[in-house]
Amino acid sequence: MICTLCKTSTLRYGTLCSTCTTDTLAHLHRLPRMWAALEDWLTPGVKGGAQYGGRVRQAEAPLPLDAEVLTLRAAGGITGILEDWRDAVRDARDLPEEERIGSLAHRVAFAANYLAGQIHFIALWEQGPQLGREVRQLVERVERHVQPALPEEKRRPEFLGHCIAVDPSGVICGARIPLVLDRPVQCEWCLCPYPPETWLQLRFFQPGLTHVDTAGDLAAA
Ligand SMILES: [Zn+2]
Ligand SMILES: [Zn+2]
Repeated sequence: MICTLCKTSTLRYGTLCSTCTTDTLAHLHRLPRMWAALEDWLTPGVKGGAQYGGRVRQAEAPLPLDAEVLTLRAAGGITGILEDWRDAVRDARDLPEEERIGSLAHRVAFAANYLAGQIHFIALWEQGPQLGREVRQLVERVERHVQPALPEEKRRPEFLGHCIAVDPSGVICGARIPLVLDRPVQCEWCLCPYPPETWLQLRFFQPGLTHVDTAGDLAAA
């Protein structure tokens, strides 16, 4: 029998091959963070990158909202699809009912964690390949929207900015902070964390083209 998700691996048992099982688990782990990252694409003035050329650009006229991003973020989007699958697994296993309560952020994380915890069942389940396919499609839909193939100047920067952490001797770190969506953003040099709520502040303090001079001024202040 062939794995019906990747259609390449031969199965000795179950419905998902080990690669597809691992991939599905990885997608489930990524989705809550991806869901959260979509918020940036709903914030007027941020889309397209705030600081090309090292200059902070203030929010301008609100940009039209991306309908697909709204759909993915809404209750029926990533959240609802994961919750429907959670309920299907729960039904199939006769497990206690789970209510859809709390914030969407909580519900996404809860449903994704629930399914991740059932991955061994899912790999043997007749509906496992369909679950794996839908979870992969969600990840692909988010990726299409958070990293669209736009001209260079319109694309979101691949790095968030320069690290503004100051060490005990007053020296600014200044390392480039890569923009990643699948794990917490952190300066790879000094390990200063940059959760999404700090990004605007980080952009505001970007030294930009006069990085060295400004860093000197700030360090001296
Ligand atoms: Zn497979
Ligand atoms: Zn740093």
